[in-house]
Amino acid sequence: MSDPSVPWKLVIHGGAGVIERHLLSADQEGAVRAALDHALRTGAAILDAGGSALDAVEATARELEDDQHFNAGRGSVFTYQGTIEMDAAIMDGRNRDAGAVAGVSATRNPVSLARMVMEGSPHVFLSREGADQYSRDNDLEQAPPEYFATPERRAALEDMRAQPDVFDADLKYGTVGAVAVDRNGHVAAATSTGGLTGKRWARIGDSPLIGCGTYADDRSGAVSCTGAGEYFIRATVAQEICARMRMLGEDVQTAADTVIADVGALGGTGGVIVVTSSGEAAFAFNTPGMYRGVASAAGRQVAIYADE
Ligand code: ASP
Repeated sequence: MSDPSVPWKLVIHGGAGVIERHLLSADQEGAVRAALDHALRTGAAILDAGGSALDAVEATARELEDDQHFNAGRGSVFTYQGTIEMDAAIMDGRNRDAGAVAGVSATRNPVSLARMVMEGSPHVFLSREGADQYSRDNDLEQAPPEYFATPERRAALEDMRAQPDVFDADLKYGTVGAVAVDRNGHVAAATSTGGLTGKRWARIGDSPLIGCGTYADDRSGAVSCTGAGEYFIRATVAQEICARMRMLGEDVQTAADTVIADVGALGGTGGVIVVTSSGEAAFAFNTPGMYRGVASAAGRQVAIYADE
């Protein structure tokens, strides 16, 4: 049932990780803050006008995919072989419809392909060449490899190759995500990523896995994750947060903190953003920073470091 009294809210992340003041130049920090604010503005305009949470999270994630500061769409990290393989998922809390793609390399906005899979196909999850084929068959915008590639990500791959024991040399995850609750009390979640620098063997992380990196259910809330995917998969983070709120009656911050602590106990690092269908929101992360932001009728705020 929709609740017309719910205030809309949008929460975003642009990745968590070893993001510390001395590692970002003033220019980099300013550019990331501006990009987060721009994305918030896009989604907020949709929600403020009475649009759906689903439309808002897709539009917001597309903005972040198009911005090369983040590891999604343009600016995605490179695989060990120097290719780009992107993963994305979207979920609608109204009916738990979901769509996801893994290992796509030619679709300009993987989050929109995930939505196309959800709405236009009988499936939930498509991968690799087949997913890109489905994208072309449905006339989604395509882009050549040069569009996605950036010199910074290429340098990160070279660094990673120089120290082969480190899986992701950067440890700045940079995935993007958006969760929203609309004026009708419906929630939605979207996550999009290039994965981890130097990934091999068609590795897939948590981001496109429904229940792990992405989940939305009007009976509780919507979650998008960022971090070391191998741990987030094992802890089924997104669904676990929703289940704790729904079945244990935990408040949103307690549920998010508890599950991030569990990820930490397994040895994983990263963070989550959460909104509930009654309009509360939470961030939780166990890394030095997480690119993040929140928008509501009261305004927009962005933050990077843990102490903000
Ligand atoms: N969670 C993503 C993955 O494991 C990485 C990230 O959050 O940046 O693919």
